[in-house]
Amino acid sequence: MVPKAAAIEGITGRVNAAPSLEQETNPWQAQAARFDEAATKLNLDKGIWKILREPTREIIVHIPVTMDDGTVEVFTGYRVQHSISRGPGKGGIRYAPDVSLDEVRALASWMTWKCAVVNIPFGGAKGGVICDPKNMSQGELERLTRRYTASLIEFLGPEKDVPAPDMNTNEQTMAWIMDTYSMHMGQTVTSVVTGKPVSLGGSRGRREATGRGVATVTDQALKFLNMNASETTVIVQGFGNVGMHSARLLWERGYKVIGIGEYDGALYNADGIDIGELVEWKTRRGTIHGFAGAGPFDKDELLTQPVDVLIPAATENVITSRNAERLQCRILVEGANGPTTAIADEILADKGVFVVPDILANAGGVTTSYFEWVQDRMGYFWAEDDVNQRLERVMIESFDAVLQYAVQHNVNNRLAAYMLAIDRVAFTTKQRGIYA
Ligand code: NAD
Repeated sequence: MVPKAAAIEGITGRVNAAPSLEQETNPWQAQAARFDEAATKLNLDKGIWKILREPTREIIVHIPVTMDDGTVEVFTGYRVQHSISRGPGKGGIRYAPDVSLDEVRALASWMTWKCAVVNIPFGGAKGGVICDPKNMSQGELERLTRRYTASLIEFLGPEKDVPAPDMNTNEQTMAWIMDTYSMHMGQTVTSVVTGKPVSLGGSRGRREATGRGVATVTDQALKFLNMNASETTVIVQGFGNVGMHSARLLWERGYKVIGIGEYDGALYNADGIDIGELVEWKTRRGTIHGFAGAGPFDKDELLTQPVDVLIPAATENVITSRNAERLQCRILVEGANGPTTAIADEILADKGVFVVPDILANAGGVTTSYFEWVQDRMGYFWAEDDVNQRLERVMIESFDAVLQYAVQHNVNNRLAAYMLAIDRVAFTTKQRGIYA
């Protein structure tokens, strides 16, 4: 079968053959396939299509760092600004040995679409540094972070590009970036990054915001499908920031969480897992394994178990042409970025799975980052309840907007989310015009 998405001629004029698994899981190609499909459906102006298909700016920096033993290492870092049409670039920075420019490009464009879906005034950006943070000391990580920030100083700023944490970066990393930027500016500029410690201008509620957004859209999906939380089973892959908070909030709302997957194994209990206890267990021991309230399970098989709601909340490309056919969930809520490939999408659509796509489902994090940026600029900080209520409102409105688009254009939810986002970004891009 030549998948529809891959057969789209798009702006390139090329018709692709069925891709290999490597092509299928290339994040930039996955993003481009969805973009082309949505742009075709929207009958997008060809000029705007060309502009939005490519990132606005790609910066590569080589960062010298003095290591603890006195030797010098040079690390490669990226910052890609996909679109700044609706506002400053916004997106995380990840540290990992296998970061690539293609990956950062894809993540930057996903940020553009995500910010547009939830209708916040940001464009999309993303950063990455090729390094192995697990084998670096705090001092080495601090020097790397500060020099990376200094190399990008002219491209960052509250009105230009606002980074946030992503894989292997955290509140401390953001504090270093904020401090380095502030030293260069000669004043404290908290709004240059989000995801900071609350004591340095971070927002209350940011830590669990992505999981809270996931829980909210899951509630909305149930409402739409006339289902009941107390009769709904859930499996979550990944028990980190997104997965743990999603599982905990759903469990607190009465859902029955029957499976939790991690990179090195899984837990399963058909009668339901006490997520409150599991959170405590993981916090104390650093692992989900050995927990008495559920039995060990095969991590790959977990995804294909019968369940009402499946939440991949770990990493990219876990649902591909290799396993999509065997999925038995009724609803797929994408906590992670890019967990499903474009080919797997079509298989899931044929199976009638109700998909809440990543650019909607996990947008709670960037929405609360937006609240953090607003609070920093006002110098006035909201109570946690206030943050959570505002977040809930944005997630419900965005969910409704995507579903309305899906019905109106007779497309699936993912395509609807892309179409809505592209339409919004195309509108401002056209309105601003081309500076010459
Ligand atoms: P995290 O590092 O806190 O947690 C990820 C968890 O998944 C870890 O417990 C890890 O051990 C586990 N994991 C990794 N690979 C796995 C695999 N192959 N199978 C099963 N488990 C695996 O990261 P996070 O912040 O929770 O992010 C998870 C995903 O959500 C990523 O795709 C990220 O880009 C996306 N995301 C995160 C946020 C946020 O606010 N943190 C916002 C939007 C999207």
